[in-house]
Amino acid sequence: MKRDRYGCGWRIQLSLIEQAIEILGIVNPVNVCVTRTMDVTTLGALDGEKSGTWQICIDRFLTPTQASLTLWHELVHVAQAESAGGMHELDERLDRERCAARLDGPRKRTFFRLRAYRNLPLEREAEDRAQTLHTKLPLATVRRRGRTRWPWVNRTPKGEIFV
Ligand SMILES: [Zn+2]
Repeated sequence: MKRDRYGCGWRIQLSLIEQAIEILGIVNPVNVCVTRTMDVTTLGALDGEKSGTWQICIDRFLTPTQASLTLWHELVHVAQAESAGGMHELDERLDRERCAARLDGPRKRTFFRLRAYRNLPLEREAEDRAQTLHTKLPLATVRRRGRTRWPWVNRTPKGEIFV
C-alpha cells in the first residue's frame, strides 16, 4: 500500500479501539501511539508488550483509510500473539514462516522479498481480516478542523488521538 505523505488530518476515537478489541476477543489492554519514524514500507507495527499492555504504533503520514486498515492489521497481530501464547511465541512462529518463505536461512531469497513477506500466513490473515473489519467499523475518521501544530500528534481528555 502506498502511503500518502500529506495524508494526516484524521482522528482515532479510543472508544472505537475498545470496540475493536472486543470484536477480536483481545484480553489485555492495548496502547496506540502515532509516530513518524517508520521506514518506507512500514505503516504500523506491534511493538510487543509493556507491563501487560500491548503496544501498537502507526505512522502519522497515512490517509484515514490507511490508518484504519493499519490499526485493524496490528490489532489482528495482537489477537494472534494472544492465541499463540505471547509475543515470544508469535515471534517464533514468525521466524518459522520467514524461513519457510526463504526470507531468512541459508537459501535466503534476494528478489521479491516484500511480496514474500506479505504472503506469510500471519501477514495474510492480518491483511484479509483488516479489509473485512475495516468496512464494518472504520477506526480512523477524517478530521475537518485545520492542521495540527507541534507536537503534531495530540491526545484529548475526551479519549481521542488526532493528527
Ligand atoms: Zn503485519
